Amino acid sequence: MARINDNFLKLKAGYLFPEIGRRVGAYADANPDKAASLIKCGIGDVTEPLPAAVREAIHTAVDELGNRDTFRGYGPEQGYDFLREAIVENCYADLNISANDIFISDGSKCDTGNILDIFGKGNKIAVTDPVYPVYVDTNVMIGNTGEADEEGRYEGLVYLPCTAENDFVPAIPDEKVDIIYLCYPNNPSGASATREQLTAWVTYAKENDAIILYDAAYEAFIQDDDVPRSIYEIEGAHECALEFRSFSKNGGFTGIRCAYITIPETVTGVSATGERISIKQLWARRTSTKFNGASYPIQRGAEAIFSDAGKAQVVALVDHYMGNAKLLREACTEIGLKVFGGENAPYVWVACPEGLTSWDMFDKMLTEANVVITPGSGFGAAGEGYFRISAFNSRENVKEVCKRLKAYL
Ligand SMILES: *Cc1c(COP(=O)(O)O)cnc(C)c1O
Repeated sequence: MARINDNFLKLKAGYLFPEIGRRVGAYADANPDKAASLIKCGIGDVTEPLPAAVREAIHTAVDELGNRDTFRGYGPEQGYDFLREAIVENCYADLNISANDIFISDGSKCDTGNILDIFGKGNKIAVTDPVYPVYVDTNVMIGNTGEADEEGRYEGLVYLPCTAENDFVPAIPDEKVDIIYLCYPNNPSGASATREQLTAWVTYAKENDAIILYDAAYEAFIQDDDVPRSIYEIEGAHECALEFRSFSKNGGFTGIRCAYITIPETVTGVSATGERISIKQLWARRTSTKFNGASYPIQRGAEAIFSDAGKAQVVALVDHYMGNAKLLREACTEIGLKVFGGENAPYVWVACPEGLTSWDMFDKMLTEANVVITPGSGFGAAGEGYFRISAFNSRENVKEVCKRLKAYL
């Protein structure tokens, strides 16, 4: 008899996107004439082609592997030096981060989940509400929570409400927690965190001996010079924060996979005997045991993001998506909806018209405007009354969505 991990049975069976898929499927079946013109602004996936500099670098790398003299097998588990050095030079100049602090992986989704391997039981864990569901579900799987209540909140987690009142950046809790997940610019709310807000969190983490898991997947979309791009711009973060970054959204790598975690040597946790242990050393050990490195051609592709051509192509991609966000913001504002986000992130977060729940709004947009959005309540109880429009789309589709918003709402 093979016993399973019973924690998996606590999971609310992948509620959000399957339910969206079910409703969209039922609608398309019932309205075959409308199915072809349905526009999906739901899932946060990029739509525009991979930058030319990336494609060229990958082609070259594949050809190297086709030649006995330049063939490579297993690479370093932590990632190639060429990529880790390019990251330090381009993302962390003057921030006191070394190439040795960078761990290349095949995605931030895996990284934010896998990181729990090196933390013990009994930590008090805080997540925002609304939240990127991966942080919650991976804690459920590993046994860090009890059961979910009717609103989907798991016993044992500390939920930090993000509301219009706090600009979708949570207030510092009045209790002590050990691990805090923060994601800025934020998915789903599209909010960004100011220097002052992040400083308050770093101060809290240091005072409470806590660790911040900082997800900066949307860093490239920051338009405002005052918004910090890295948690390490905040003094003291080198002692209490890990940063997750990905090439998925800036470089369009969602299908080819490359990301990294940054862990300064000075971030530590405590062993059962009270000894201070470097988180980086634990993660290095974990990585060399459970991972054999990201694909060589893909790491070359990621390196190309930092070439002159690559940088210009990423700027063009970001400008494209942020131009979409601006159009979506304007259209929603014009029809009298309250709009948040979309200024430093590719997500527009919109308050539903008075009296409509998130799912009411989803159904209304689907059946009246023939547009798929994401109900805010799917990201947590505090997301109720909001919906998310993704700016990841073609300009043509976004213009059409704006037209339909104005026509049908
Ligand atoms: C898209 C996204 C990521 C990136 O995930 P990958 O696995 O690197 O594609 C990370 N965090 C958040 C919140 C995201 O929305």
